[in-house]
Amino acid sequence: MSMLLGTRRTLLQSVDRGDMLPQYLLNSYGAEIEGFDSVAEWVVSLGSAADNITEGEFRTGASSIKLTTGVGANAIMTKTLDAPLTLNSGEHLRLYFYMHDFDNAARIRFYLFTAGYATALEHTIEFAPLIPPCRNGWNVIDLYEDGFGGTASWSDTFPLLRIRLEPKPGVQCSISCDSLRAGLQSVPAVLWMFDDEQSSIYDLAYLYMQPRNANATFYIKTAAVNTGANITDAQLLTMEGGGWSIANHTRSHVYDLPYAAFLADIQNGRADLAGWGLSVAIDHFAYPGGQYDDDRILAAVNAPCLTARVTGKGFVGLDVYGDQLFVLPIYMGVNTLTLAQLQGFVDEAILYNRPIVLFAHTIGPGADITQADFEAIIDYTQAVGIPHLTINDIYDSLSGPITKPPG
Ligand SMILES: [Zn+2]
Repeated sequence: MSMLLGTRRTLLQSVDRGDMLPQYLLNSYGAEIEGFDSVAEWVVSLGSAADNITEGEFRTGASSIKLTTGVGANAIMTKTLDAPLTLNSGEHLRLYFYMHDFDNAARIRFYLFTAGYATALEHTIEFAPLIPPCRNGWNVIDLYEDGFGGTASWSDTFPLLRIRLEPKPGVQCSISCDSLRAGLQSVPAVLWMFDDEQSSIYDLAYLYMQPRNANATFYIKTAAVNTGANITDAQLLTMEGGGWSIANHTRSHVYDLPYAAFLADIQNGRADLAGWGLSVAIDHFAYPGGQYDDDRILAAVNAPCLTARVTGKGFVGLDVYGDQLFVLPIYMGVNTLTLAQLQGFVDEAILYNRPIVLFAHTIGPGADITQADFEAIIDYTQAVGIPHLTINDIYDSLSGPITKPPG
């Protein structure tokens, strides 16, 4: 690992004030290695598969391939790739698929086999009930080296691709796959995100980061502002003026409200922020408790917000298709973090060339992260030349290159 890390650091272009970062934060969009254009090219060994020409359910070419399980029984399709796939260090894969009936699906297993099925790399996408990594409609999943297990090595050659879809017991499910890309390479970046109302985010995070030109995003539970020892509207204004994204986390932070009340709570949160004179990031939103479902996503869309962030392990996968902007994941939904863990995450961002989100509610004595560890990780990130980005930076990067400032 240390040798690889050294390699990445050599390749890494450190980012200075005024440097340009590419659209989607992708240095390389790689190449499509499978277009899922014809089911005739695949061997379907379990379940069934068919070309899907339904408008809206294919993305490239004239069709996708719809893979359907049996009742409580897996579906498997396998293809000999047009050219054997080789993977380079620091690059990742990206799979686009349309999910037809999320509630019935248990997981997708994605395999790359070496010749003769001798060994395999395997990446499992589990559909956990609370914070799933995907949903009905289009999904874009980035597959990084560290997410793969199995008996093969990243440096092997893979002529064979297999997709296995597993339903929940007693039901069937389908996905339509369309487009697998390889060779994607992102810009390593760190997005610090803080939630709720703690004044330590001003006292210990903002006041340390700001003189170092390092920005972050703070999602605010607005009912708590200006109460007790919590953050004040004046501090929020100062933070926004200093380059931070001060964003919406609803007024009440109640996450199981019915649709209309939840929509109102989002809109009230935004109105509170606007009432204090904030404007830059008030259309960016984080679900209270990180929890979402179709109603809550719809409320975020209709509020209207520009993005909505969940809490759970996932990736900052850009080039977003459909409404995935409304289920923006964070990579580490961890509260209590040691400096060693934090450095490990930053090293991963470098090693795998990806933007990573670090997250906390509080900093300081007895908090998620100690003040000393927090300051050390900011220093560490800057020393290795990684930019600190905000949700506004991420959003802006969807429409073109961004000029990134603060290192
Ligand atoms: Zn919260």
